[in-house]
Amino acid sequence: MSFNIAIDGPAGAGKSTIARRAAQELSFIYVDTGAMYRAITLGLMRADTDIEDAAALERALAGIEVTIDYPDGVQQVYLNGENVSGLIRTEEVSARTSACAAKPEVRAKLTDLQRELARRADVLMDGRDIGTAILPDAQLKIYLTASVQTRAERRYRELSERGEACSLEEIAKEIEERDYRDMHRETAPLMQAKDAVLVDSSDLTVEEVTERIVALARERMESGHGA
Ligand code: C5P
Repeated sequence: MSFNIAIDGPAGAGKSTIARRAAQELSFIYVDTGAMYRAITLGLMRADTDIEDAAALERALAGIEVTIDYPDGVQQVYLNGENVSGLIRTEEVSARTSACAAKPEVRAKLTDLQRELARRADVLMDGRDIGTAILPDAQLKIYLTASVQTRAERRYRELSERGEACSLEEIAKEIEERDYRDMHRETAPLMQAKDAVLVDSSDLTVEEVTERIVALARERMESGHGA
C-alpha cells in the first residue's frame, strides 16, 4: 500500500516550495493539484467560456483533457497534450482559478486522476481538499497556513524580484478574496481536516517547516501507519 501525505492550506503559505522539498527528501512524488485546476482554467479561458452558463461549461469541459507526467521527477501539466506548465502562473490565471475550482463539474474532472496517482505511488499531494475530500485516509495530513500579512509580503518580494510592478495592499486584498472563495464554496471548501496537524509558517523558515513535515512522515512510516 502506498503512503500518502496530504498538505492543504491557503494560497501563499509556502505549500508548493515546502511540499517539493519534503517530497524530495522522502523520495515521494510531489503532486501539485493547484496546477491541474490552473490548467483547466486556462482551457476555459481559451475557449472563452462563461462558467456561469452550466451548459456551456459542460460543453467546454468535455473538450478539455488534463494530464500530468514527471520527466526528471518534476511535475509537468498538459492541456490537451500541450505542456502548459509555464503558462499557468500568471496573476490572471491565479485570480480566475478559484472561481473555476468552485464548480463541482470542474472538481469532478480531477478527483479520479488525483486518487489514482495516490493509489499507485507514495505521494505528497498539495491542494485545498486533499485531506478532507480526495485522500481522507492519508497517513499524514498537514494544514499549512500563515497570516495574510506574511503571505502578502512573501508574494510581494517574489514579484518585486522578478521586476513586476505590484502593491502590497493589492496583493493582500487578492489573497483575502481568494481565501474567502476557497473557504466558502459549497463543494470541497478549504478547511483543516480533523486529524490534520496544524503548521503555521508565519515565523518559521522553509527549512524548519520542511524538517517538521519530514520528521512527522518518518515517525508515522516507522510506526507502521499504512506502510
Ligand atoms: O495551489 P494553487 O494556488 O496553485 O491553486 C490555485 C487555485 O486552485 C486555488 O486558489 C484553489 O481555488 C484551487 N484549488 C482547489 N483545490 C485544490 C487545489 C487548488 O480548489 N486541490
